[in-house]
Amino acid sequence: MKTFNELGVAPQIVRAITEMGYESPMPVQEEVIPYLLSQGNEVIALAQTGTGKTAAFGLPIIQQIRLDKKQPQALILCPTRELCLQIADDLNDYSKYIDQLTVLPVYGGSSIESQIRAMKRGVHIIVATPGRLIDLIKRKTTNLQAVSNVILDEADEMLSMGFSENIDEILSYIPAERNMLLFSATMPAEIHKIVKKYMRNPHEIIIGKKNEGAKNIRHFYYMVNAKDRYLVLKRLADYHPNIYGIVFCRTKKETQEIADALIKDGYNADALHGDLSQAQRDYVMQKFRLRNIQILVATDVAARGLDVDDLTHIINYGLPDDVELYTHRSGRTGRAGKTGTSIAIIHLKEKHKIKAIEKIINKTFEAGVIPTGKQICEKQLFSFIDKLEKVNVNEDEIQDLLPSIYRKLNWLDKEDIIKRLISNEFNRLISYYQEADEIEIPQEGHKKREKGDMRERTFADKGSGRASEKGYARLFINLGKKDGINPHKIIGLMNDNIPGKKITVGRIDLMKNFSFFEVKEADLNKVIQGLDGVKAFGRRLSVEQSQASPSEDRKMKIKQSEKRYKGRG
Ligand code: AMP
Repeated sequence: MKTFNELGVAPQIVRAITEMGYESPMPVQEEVIPYLLSQGNEVIALAQTGTGKTAAFGLPIIQQIRLDKKQPQALILCPTRELCLQIADDLNDYSKYIDQLTVLPVYGGSSIESQIRAMKRGVHIIVATPGRLIDLIKRKTTNLQAVSNVILDEADEMLSMGFSENIDEILSYIPAERNMLLFSATMPAEIHKIVKKYMRNPHEIIIGKKNEGAKNIRHFYYMVNAKDRYLVLKRLADYHPNIYGIVFCRTKKETQEIADALIKDGYNADALHGDLSQAQRDYVMQKFRLRNIQILVATDVAARGLDVDDLTHIINYGLPDDVELYTHRSGRTGRAGKTGTSIAIIHLKEKHKIKAIEKIINKTFEAGVIPTGKQICEKQLFSFIDKLEKVNVNEDEIQDLLPSIYRKLNWLDKEDIIKRLISNEFNRLISYYQEADEIEIPQEGHKKREKGDMRERTFADKGSGRASEKGYARLFINLGKKDGINPHKIIGLMNDNIPGKKITVGRIDLMKNFSFFEVKEADLNKVIQGLDGVKAFGRRLSVEQSQASPSEDRKMKIKQSEKRYKGRG
């Protein structure tokens, strides 16, 4: 393995990173740094977060800046404000011993005036989220004519957040002879389009296999009935008393509900999602970074850019619809060479997603065994005893108190004291698990009606063998799988066409040419009025109440209906 000096990194930069604890280059750095330090080279690096990619592009970029030229010479585009600040901080740390080098983070949600003032004073490197940078360019406060290096960091995230057009626009303001570097954790087709359009013969560097999750992450799935998902989450948290992790949920509502339930049950948890204000989000993230929160319950979008190393666990509270998101989620643990665990708490119908993810990460999931109450209590007890053994005893501070404490406990012997200490800590946990039923493992092929789930029904629970939920009405829509319809698109149609409060959707059955979905009876007319006759997906929608009941004779009825509705759109 080469040293940073041997890779060609300048002494004042090596000095700064050595102080940061970077003793030797990480694999992505070993490959990228020497390549970028020679002229005119473009790079696509498939690297997960946590592989050291910031220094891989950051060190050569800093080294190539001409300090006498007070114009932006390098532009780093990234998807979120948090990542933007993180990269700018890192670049400032790397350039600690290079006087006069200026790095400016440019991101939305904060004062544009101060960013304009800083820009006018002159900067060498801009780290920006695309939207705010376009604002600055349009106000003629930012000139990108001297930019010779453009870095797209977390390119796949930027595309999935809809920044594609913004990126196109920004690149049109930069001279064509620039160098471009693209970093991405996954390689969806859209990335190939960018590469084809903007890059010249880029050198492709793959850290780990293409689209593969980090090697040091173990993946587990726990298959449970939907009603038991929260109980399993609790058990897993109890079984890992030192957990420091993120629980990913699918919706903002579910995120808040799970966080509230955990807090109510005494866990050190909080929620992070888009319904919170920026200030609230910053506060939660700060608490999490400081480890004042052990379990952060978050949506994918809100957790983007939250840069925290040392996470022990990622828990998928259900799997994302877009299985590639799983790679992003799990890539947040097992960073910088550490080990991590990624857990998916799923129900039977999500099993096929496990297979799809295994293909992407090129690893197999291990079937997790839900810890029993007894195992959890033992694990917690020993973790407590371990802490007790290792606790730092501050002799001086407690010296004065000890005589009266000894006197008070004089009537108890050592065994009694230990028993009382343990009971004091664990009585609640032990009696909870004594009373708790062990969690039933669902058997494939045995679909049971599940009651009592703490949440509203969501797409994940749209089992096709169950009767319509009480209070729900069933609707027919003349869009099917052939039209590319999916549950999100059905919800999208309602959000776009029905004013007022969001409609709660129950079960959705997608057929080839048409679909059924359920809404609360009270919303039935509103939904029909909002959607029926609307033009979407290249046709006029037909939405009406369906009489077909999804019971035992469902298949037959579907066949009949399919004939009836064929060609109606
Ligand atoms: P990144 O992928 O750039 O977010 O880096 C992940 C983590 O690894 C960050 O905490 C970096 O500070 C750290 N890191 C990056 N390069 C090195 C290195 N050569 N040695 C030790 N830690 C590093």
